[in-house]
Amino acid sequence: MRLSQFHLSTSKETPADAEVISHQLMLKAGMIRKLAAGLYTWSPLGLRVLRNVERVVREEMNRAGAIEMLMPSIQPKELWEETGRWQKFGGQLLKIRDRKDAEYAYGPTHEEVVTDFARNELRSYKQLPLNVYQIQTKFRDEIRPRFGVMRAREFLMKDAYSFHLTAESMAVTYQAMYDAYSRIFTRLGLKFRAVNADTGAIGGSASHEFHVLADSGEDAIAFSDGSDYAANTEMAEALAPGPRAPASAAMAKVVTPWQRTCEEVAKLLGIELASTVKSVAMIGEQGFVLALVRGDHMVNEIKLAKLPGLAEYRLATEAEILAHLGSEPGFLGPVKPLQPITVIADRSVAAMADLVVGANEKGFHLTGVNWGRDLPEPDLVADIRNAVAGDPSPDGQGTLGIARGIEVGHVFQLGQKYAEAMKATVLDAEGKAQVMFMGCYGIGVSRIVAAAIEQNFDANGICWPEPMAPWRVAVCIINPKNDPAVVEAAQALYIDLNARGVDACLDDRGLRPGVMFGDMELIGIPHRVVVSERGLAAGTFEYRARRDAEAVNLDRAALFAQLG
Ligand code: ATP
Ligand code: MG
Ligand code: MG
Ligand code: MG
Repeated sequence: MRLSQFHLSTSKETPADAEVISHQLMLKAGMIRKLAAGLYTWSPLGLRVLRNVERVVREEMNRAGAIEMLMPSIQPKELWEETGRWQKFGGQLLKIRDRKDAEYAYGPTHEEVVTDFARNELRSYKQLPLNVYQIQTKFRDEIRPRFGVMRAREFLMKDAYSFHLTAESMAVTYQAMYDAYSRIFTRLGLKFRAVNADTGAIGGSASHEFHVLADSGEDAIAFSDGSDYAANTEMAEALAPGPRAPASAAMAKVVTPWQRTCEEVAKLLGIELASTVKSVAMIGEQGFVLALVRGDHMVNEIKLAKLPGLAEYRLATEAEILAHLGSEPGFLGPVKPLQPITVIADRSVAAMADLVVGANEKGFHLTGVNWGRDLPEPDLVADIRNAVAGDPSPDGQGTLGIARGIEVGHVFQLGQKYAEAMKATVLDAEGKAQVMFMGCYGIGVSRIVAAAIEQNFDANGICWPEPMAPWRVAVCIINPKNDPAVVEAAQALYIDLNARGVDACLDDRGLRPGVMFGDMELIGIPHRVVVSERGLAAGTFEYRARRDAEAVNLDRAALFAQLG
C-alpha cells in the first residue's frame, strides 16, 4: 500500500473520554471511530488489523477440523422461546420487530440458530461429530459499553458449535478447541492464561476462559504458584462445603439493596446469573439476600445484612415491599411475570430451608449437602470468588496470586441442554433417536485487537505483535520531492519486499521525517526502513525495529536477512 493512496488519520490529542490505553491509542491511530454508544466504525487501517486477527483464528480453526459457515444475525423469537432464552437472556438481548409485527433478536450468540440447523441437517450418528464455526457480528445491549471495542455493543465474534453422539466425543472436540485457542493466542503473540470459568448465560457443564493478562482487565484471575490451577474469580460454580468469607469488597458496591432488581445486584457483584440459576431476593429480619438456586438447590447466597452500612437501611415489612412492588418501578422491579424473581418478605434466612439443601443455619448453607446426589461433585471444592493473593490454592498445591485479565475466548461443554430443548436428535447405530451433545466455543475477535494493545504499547504508541500489524514494514522516503532517485529506490524496495511476501507499506506522503516517523510509531509498524539521499550514496538503508532504541544502517542483503 502506498500511503499517499490510503486513508491514514492520526491525531496527537489524547481523547478525553477514553479511559484505557488501547481505546486512546486506537482513536489516536485512527483505527476506529465511534458512531454511537458501543458502536464503532473500523477505518481502513483498523480493519487491516482486525482481518489479521481473523486470519489467524480462521487458519487455526480450520487446522483443528472446524468448518466455516455463516448464519444470519437476525434470529426469530420462536427459536429463542424453544430454549426459554427469549425471557431468560435478559437485557442484553436486542429485540426487534418487522413490518408484519414478527419479533426477532439481533443475535448475541447462536446456539439456537445452529441447533435448528443441526436438527434439520443431521439424521445419523454417522454424520457426527460435526464442528462448525462462523466469524460474524454480534450485538449485546451491554449495560455499560466502554473501553471502545473492548466492551462494545456490536462486536465481531468467532463462534463455533460442535455436535456429538456421546459426551466422550464432546470432550474430545472440547480439548481440540482448547488446544486451538492456545495456538491462536500464542501465534498472536499474546500473554494469556486459560482458566476455569463459570458458564454464565450460555449454560452447560465444563468451561474454560482464555484471558489476556493486563492491568486494565475487568476480570480477576486467581492462579496457583504450585500447580496449573487457575480460575476466574467470578466463577460461581466451584463451591466449598462449609462457611465462606463474605464478599465484602464486592458487596460494598451494593449500597441501596432495596432499590435494585436481583439482576442488577448480580451485575454489581460481578456475577452472571446462569440460565439454570434462579435468583431469589429475600427481605426479612436478616436483611436482603440474593440466593442463586440451581435446580432446586441453593448453591450460593449473599447476605447483604452483613454489609457495613446496611444498618442505615431499615427493614421493610411485607406490606411495604408489596406496596412498593406495585407502585415504584425502581424498587426490586418491575418484577416481570416471567422473570425468575421471587420476593419472600418478613422471613428469616431459615425460611430458605424449605427451598434448598442444607440451608439450615445461616452461613452454613452447604453443610449437609450430599455431594454427587444433591449437587454435582465439584472437582475444585472452593469458592474462589473472594480469594485474595496469598490464599492457599483450592487444589491444595501452592498459594494463589491474583492477576487482571481480559476475557478473549470461552469454551463450553454444553451437554444436551440446547439439543434437548430443541429436540435435536440423530439415529444411533441401533436406529434409536438420541439427543445430541454439544460444545460451543467463542473468541472475541474485535476485543483481541484492543487487548493486544493493552499488552503492547510504549510512550510513542502501539507496538503490534507482527502477525497483527497493519503492515510489517514501513518504507519511509525522506524528502521525496528533492530527489527522484530516492523515490525510485524506495519504490523498488517496497515492490521487492511485497514480492517476497513481506507485507510492506510505502510512506510516500511527503511529510517531514519527524511527523512521518511519529505516525509509523503510533500505528505500531514493527519495522521501519528509511530511504534517503545519504543512505543511497552509501549503499545502505536505515533500519529500526519498533522497540529498538537506535537505528542501524544495513546494506540490502543485511536488510533482507533482517526482515526474513
Ligand atoms: P464478558 O464476560 O466480557 O461480558 P462474556 O462471557 O459475556 O464476556 P461470551 O458469551 O463468553 O462473553 O462470548 C465469547 C467472547 O466474545 C468473549 O470471550 C469475549 O471475548 C467476546 N465478547 C463478549 N462480549 C463482548 C463485548 N461486549 N464486546 C466485545 N467482545 C465481547
Ligand atoms: Mg458478557
Ligand atoms: Mg465472561
Ligand atoms: Mg464468557
